[in-house]
Amino acid sequence: MLIALGHDGRRVAQLMVLAAPALVWLAWPVRSPRVHRFRIVLVWLWVMGFALDAVTRAYLLDAYQAAPDSSLVQSAAANTNRREAGEYLSMHWRATLVWCGGLLLAALVVARNARRGARAGEPPPRWAITGMCAILAIGSIAYLIKPWRRLHPVVFWADWSHSVLALRAGWADQQRERDLALSRARATRPSVAMDGPATLVLVITDSINRDNMALYGYSRATTPRLMAYKAQLKDQLLVMRNAWSADASTIPALRNMFNFGLPEDQQPQHVLALARAAGYKVWWMSNHDDVAIEQKHARLADMVDIVNRTPGRAGASLDGELLDCVQEALEDPAERKLIVVHLMGAHPHYNLRFPEGANPFDDRIDDVEEALERSGRSMWVRKFRQEYDAALLYHDFVVAETLELTRRIGRAEGYRAWMYLSDHGQEVGHWGNHAGHSPATASGYRIPTVIWRNRSPKRQPADAETRPFRADWSGWTITDLLNIRWNGDATDRNALAEGYRWQAPTLPVEVTSFED
Ligand SMILES: [Zn+2]
Repeated sequence: MLIALGHDGRRVAQLMVLAAPALVWLAWPVRSPRVHRFRIVLVWLWVMGFALDAVTRAYLLDAYQAAPDSSLVQSAAANTNRREAGEYLSMHWRATLVWCGGLLLAALVVARNARRGARAGEPPPRWAITGMCAILAIGSIAYLIKPWRRLHPVVFWADWSHSVLALRAGWADQQRERDLALSRARATRPSVAMDGPATLVLVITDSINRDNMALYGYSRATTPRLMAYKAQLKDQLLVMRNAWSADASTIPALRNMFNFGLPEDQQPQHVLALARAAGYKVWWMSNHDDVAIEQKHARLADMVDIVNRTPGRAGASLDGELLDCVQEALEDPAERKLIVVHLMGAHPHYNLRFPEGANPFDDRIDDVEEALERSGRSMWVRKFRQEYDAALLYHDFVVAETLELTRRIGRAEGYRAWMYLSDHGQEVGHWGNHAGHSPATASGYRIPTVIWRNRSPKRQPADAETRPFRADWSGWTITDLLNIRWNGDATDRNALAEGYRWQAPTLPVEVTSFED
């Protein structure tokens, strides 16, 4: 029954066949008490291997609609250390407890049945022996077929940890890749099509769903500062109403943002390498401690400042800690600057993403709370929503402050731009009774994107705010904000250009319209 939870269709039968030989052994009478005890232990371990495998698969399927060997799960595992795993468990302990309970029950039942294995006495009837031989024969054939054998829990999980380790080792040796990216960028002869000083502050945040921002129409007052800027700056602050991420988790989202959304076999440029080759001094400052991101992106910058050195996404390092670094970089005398600010945003745990006690949405009955209650969201999800919104309120302060610094610091005559977007969205009871990253609901992809420029070299298209926008294409917009011209430049994927041609991304969820 457990196998059926974690697998489907043909797989269930395959696993039953793989598990069968040990069970046949139970029907064979044994005389010696020592052999009997040995058999109990061995059969128990054997069956529990299958049970653990099934429960893990069922859990991943239920929470993420993903198989353990999917890149989503594998890169998350390769990128997770023990501390982060603990943090994850403390957030998802309820679900984990339910599955562990099921596993414990299975352990007891299996142990009881294993002890009841046939003992000395009459040899089993002839038909039973024939049956057992048939099962053993089929089982042995299953073990001889490689694709079948690979499904055995022990083999499968050994392979799995191999590939996770290989993934991690690959990230650790990326210097060569970065050198290649730089020489590839130089080969396109990038130049800056603008005189005088230029600065772009690129604020990339994590797990922000635009549906929770008052700036985008949410009824809780989560973004008072950004709204004040919008009222003051009007058209100069471009709020992209229909912004979407094409990925529901950080690593692929950032990979696409910086690599122009192009597949690996097209040898895409990297935005940071292009900027450097065009003469920009590049900063990367981050509140994440993440091997993959550091190796694939951050180390391409001239200056790397990682504020949060508590590995993983735990710890009370608030995004506001980065503001001093932003100010310092803005004060640097370099002529051309690209300053990338990587925030933690509202990544789970939500309650670690705002200062203690700063939750005005806590235990207040408002229309959001009532609507969640009406649609049957659990108390836990409603509480997560309150914390999430409090995280957004603090986030509003940090993001607005980066805009304020960009506007205030630097040479008055210079060109200055600021872009803010999230890597992906977050589900907090919007579509289902679930809180967290969400590849299977639209909430996982609904992000904010906001752009400010002190002046624009070209006239902005009239419909720029309502054009649907894809974060995996943002490289084209970022290089435009940097005014970089290069061999390979194009405008059809740049949402700020006249020649923009929207194409809907292929997402694993059905989206009725990308314009809402
Ligand atoms: Zn993320």
